[in-house]
Amino acid sequence: MKIGITADINLVPTEVINLRLANYFPKQLIDVLQKHDIVPLLLPVAPEEMAKELVKSVDGVIIPGGPDIAPYLYGEEPLENIGNTYYQRDLFEIALIKETLAQRKPLMGICRGIQIINVALGGTLYQDLASQYKSDKLIQHAQKSQGFLPTHHVNLQPGSFLYQALGKQSLVNSRHHEAVKKVGTGLHVTATAPDGVIEGIESDDGLIVAVQWHPENLWQHHADQEQLFVNFFAKAAAQKERK
Ligand code: MN
Repeated sequence: MKIGITADINLVPTEVINLRLANYFPKQLIDVLQKHDIVPLLLPVAPEEMAKELVKSVDGVIIPGGPDIAPYLYGEEPLENIGNTYYQRDLFEIALIKETLAQRKPLMGICRGIQIINVALGGTLYQDLASQYKSDKLIQHAQKSQGFLPTHHVNLQPGSFLYQALGKQSLVNSRHHEAVKKVGTGLHVTATAPDGVIEGIESDDGLIVAVQWHPENLWQHHADQEQLFVNFFAKAAAQKERK
């Protein structure tokens, strides 16, 4: 089985010409696929017209982390505290998300992935939780601890895909300052942080699962987070069987 992973783009200025805007991929995500005999196919940022052929070549798609989403894509101007954006990746991934759904293949979003999936389906985002999320319960989501360490809890919706892998509650890492605000069409919330921030969404048709944390940096020491990947691979295998 083959799963496509969309590339992040190196936005750090560099003297090395081949590293400028280079496409790159999280090693620990590739590791979990290979551990379970899934062939990772890396999908570089490409013209939107190529999305169809790229999706045809895989049995499922994972969209990993990266920079903030260009706010014009959900009808807003950039606020003071938004981070780096790169709208070319946004446009490609939106085309890829629509194509993945059209071809009825499973789709998993990680961190930025949950955000771009939500925007692709007509939802909106908080550009910056600390300045926009009005609650005295707000916890730290841009964690200062190292990225592989879980820091806050999430509560999972009984009966959901996430609940099946993680149970009622899980401890996760948190490296984001954006978050889902208005939920996109055909999606529903299946994970929340103790302050109410949305941490997981799934589609009503069962093809999409997306999380705000980084399971690719947790699965090595946290069996529930590895189970999340295993269940996604099983979903892709079942969907392939059905075709
Ligand atoms: Mn969080």
